[in-house]
Amino acid sequence: MASKITIPVSDFENSKTPQQVGRRNLSYQNAGEILKRKLASNLASESDHDTSLLIHAATVSARKECKRDVAFVLKETLKTPEFPSESRMQIQCQKPTPLSPDEALAYLLENTLTKQQYISTRLLNKSHNSDIYPPYNEVIEAKLQCRPEGIEVMENTAQVLLQNLLDHTAQRLIKLQSDVFKEFPDIFKIKLICSYGFDGTTGHSAYKQKYETEALGTPISDQSLFVTSVIPIQIIDSFDRHIWINRAPQSIRFCRPLKIELIKETAVHIMMEKNQLDNQINNLTPFTYKYDENRDIEVSYEMHMTLIDGKVLNVLTDTKSTQCCPICGVSPTQMLKISNFSSETFVPKVKALQFGS
Ligand SMILES: [Zn+2]
Repeated sequence: MASKITIPVSDFENSKTPQQVGRRNLSYQNAGEILKRKLASNLASESDHDTSLLIHAATVSARKECKRDVAFVLKETLKTPEFPSESRMQIQCQKPTPLSPDEALAYLLENTLTKQQYISTRLLNKSHNSDIYPPYNEVIEAKLQCRPEGIEVMENTAQVLLQNLLDHTAQRLIKLQSDVFKEFPDIFKIKLICSYGFDGTTGHSAYKQKYETEALGTPISDQSLFVTSVIPIQIIDSFDRHIWINRAPQSIRFCRPLKIELIKETAVHIMMEKNQLDNQINNLTPFTYKYDENRDIEVSYEMHMTLIDGKVLNVLTDTKSTQCCPICGVSPTQMLKISNFSSETFVPKVKALQFGS
């Protein structure tokens, strides 16, 4: 009796086929990530992890489904053993990005390449399927774009008008910051603030050069050099927003020479140069940059003479001795005697503070 009601456990389990009980079978397409992996792994183990067979099977199904590209790639994978690694390389390798003429010019100048070296580098790269360098004539064109108009070169001087140099600087900086101007369509007036000054060097080798002109009655000599330069510091707009700031104001990269002259740095010449510069600064006119068809940007200039050394400062502030303070003119003897530091002796001389030294 008892044995009759015993239900064999094994029979009960066998009758429970997947079709009858449990979750309905999902197709691969509709399955979630985990199930997809399980289905694929089941199929792989059913065919004893024979990759070639599985790929072949996939090729057959792809053809059935009219997925020609898939079928082609799979067939190629089976046929050519190098194909998978080659296509992996091709996908992973990024295509080379070509240099702009300005970037190429910067590279050329930075590495002091000759024309021939540049051309050879370019051809070598081209022959290795990496045509990233622009042709040399485009680089030359970019270099000419860096040059202000009206450069005057004489036997002993090379100079450009301050107005031309500033206009050119403003134009290049606006181009550089064109994203900022696009972002703020309300910028119509900007101010370019620059630092300028001069300094002389002596003791250069004298070469046996014959000069035809004479400067102020003294014969020209290539032993001394006197250079006037301008450094753009920042650009602000009419709302006092900073459009551009020179992050490396002391770097030679931002130093724009205004005048290079073969002459000795004397007090007379310093004063003459300063007067000439003051004259040019007083006559500066604002520059209008055509940003696009319905937008003009007016650039005005603000110049500060801060690019000078102690010697020039002494001449400009009329300080007779280098021992005296160029700001207030106090001498070392006075300095030792005085105990009242708020006395009138320490009051700065008129216009002595503008030189920033
Ligand atoms: Zn002082």
